[in-house]
Amino acid sequence: MSAPFREIEVLLPPAVAYDEFARYEALLHAAGLQPGQADFVHLRKRSIDARGRSPQVRLRADIYQMPPPASLFGPWFRYPDVRQARRTVLIVGAGPAGLFAALRAIELGLKPIVLERGKDVRTRRRDLAALNKEHLVNPDSNYCFGEGGAGTYSDGKLYTRATKRGDVGRVLRCLVQHGATPDILVDAHPHIGTNKLPSVVAALRDSIREAGGEVRFDTRVDDLVLENHHLRGVVTATGETIEADAVILATGHSARDIYELLHRRGVLIEAKPFALGVRVEHEQELIDKAQYRLNDRGELPAASYSLVHQTQWQGKQRGVFSFCMCPGGFIVPAATAPGEVVVNGMSPSRRDSRFANSGIVAAVELEDMDVRQYGPLAGLRLQQEIEQRACQVAGNTQRAPAQRLGDFLKGKISAELLETSYQPGLVPVAMDDVLGAGLAERLRQGFQDFGRKIPGYATNAAQIVGVESRTSSPVRIPRDRDTLEHPEVRGLFPCGEGAGYAGGIVSAAMDGERCAEAALASLAVS
Ligand code: FAD
Repeated sequence: MSAPFREIEVLLPPAVAYDEFARYEALLHAAGLQPGQADFVHLRKRSIDARGRSPQVRLRADIYQMPPPASLFGPWFRYPDVRQARRTVLIVGAGPAGLFAALRAIELGLKPIVLERGKDVRTRRRDLAALNKEHLVNPDSNYCFGEGGAGTYSDGKLYTRATKRGDVGRVLRCLVQHGATPDILVDAHPHIGTNKLPSVVAALRDSIREAGGEVRFDTRVDDLVLENHHLRGVVTATGETIEADAVILATGHSARDIYELLHRRGVLIEAKPFALGVRVEHEQELIDKAQYRLNDRGELPAASYSLVHQTQWQGKQRGVFSFCMCPGGFIVPAATAPGEVVVNGMSPSRRDSRFANSGIVAAVELEDMDVRQYGPLAGLRLQQEIEQRACQVAGNTQRAPAQRLGDFLKGKISAELLETSYQPGLVPVAMDDVLGAGLAERLRQGFQDFGRKIPGYATNAAQIVGVESRTSSPVRIPRDRDTLEHPEVRGLFPCGEGAGYAGGIVSAAMDGERCAEAALASLAVS
């Protein structure tokens, strides 16, 4: 195998780093070579260093003086034909966890049958338009439900801290093989963008079907085939019973009916801490100026931020932090049922909208929920209550309650709101009425601190929009640490974000892969 001739790391001005030819020359120069003296320059990592007087781009590259290894270019994955496979695995949910579980199952020789309540990516788009323009929430097809799950119409940020829970590189290479830009293999904070994600998701589905796996849309699972603590299969909304050798449950954190179903059928679930708050929106230019200290960011990507502050209220400490920051993005309506308002963020691949938005949320611990009354569904009920209040306060449509940030800090309703990227529109309210005193006070403390860290951040040049409530699952579906099987129900593999084992596209995808491996292992011993 050909090893790199030289590995180099350089800091370059953005104008050079983002120009392919200028970058190539600069990298060769740094290696002491002339153009023509290397066969191939392979960029390995790209990150922005904004600490100095003007931001620079840090590049790591390998230089080859002979043909580089084929493994650099892919294809990295081949999917065997599983039409005649002896074993089938049912996968409920076609989000990142479900799709990657299906592909891994195929690699392992199992036939996956993926059941998805929503529609394929293309048809799903019409329901998103109806949600944005006519305020119609389809409970089976929205920003959370449908092919690709909550990850499809998102920012497509692929950064994860959960690097020990799987092979991040494997997930990224699989995405590239299915059409994502190879830049995601290089960037320190990779992202795909909402305009590019649907075709990647469709290509993942095509790979599953071409190998003989099944993917069924408009197929909501409404019941379980449970026999003596063994899950044999599921029953769909049309009454069809589908059995399989194992069931991977990857229904995401918004499938409230699934949590209710598990609880009703006596399957052990647990309340889990999560986070709740608002989305804050600024002009992207304000964030760029603060982060890069430049009037014009030039070739640099839209700047982002990551903020955290410990708050105190009534003697209890809780973290307030930024979540899913979307530079150059849009705020979107992420409700999954009529009568609730939920916001989230996304951005296109170029991140070129005028606006920067981010969730700003406070940790919600078990003692902040009414576990005594609602048991394992206590966090879910709290989420629901605040989402429904957000809807009522703003007039019972998908228009969202909002307040200018300076006004929120002073406790004053905004006379006028700012322009927004949130298409259904905003209604000025006192956000304390939506959030409740404790949560509002914690967010105020957080924003005051963030205003000290980023000049201009916590002023009336920004506004907050509510509510950011679907940060992570408020319920955990327990599973054995090693076998990943539910401790009381054989054949059930709780998977991904909805089960409480992932937070984000990449970690959900890695968990899907692990569950497919675990399902195979369980079949080998049964
Ligand atoms: P999900 O993606 O939620 O998928 C679950 C699937 O199960 C859905 O398709 C749903 O329709 C289906 N389902 C539910 N119930 C049933 C049922 N009863 N029967 C059949 N099917 C069912 N994460 C990032 O890492 N980066 C980002 O930039 C990012 N941006 C986001 C932006 C938005 C607007 C949203 C909503 C989320 C974003 N996230 C982002 C979070 C990310 O999308 C999730 O963490 C991830 O999708 C979780 O994957 P999952 O497969 O576990 O669940």
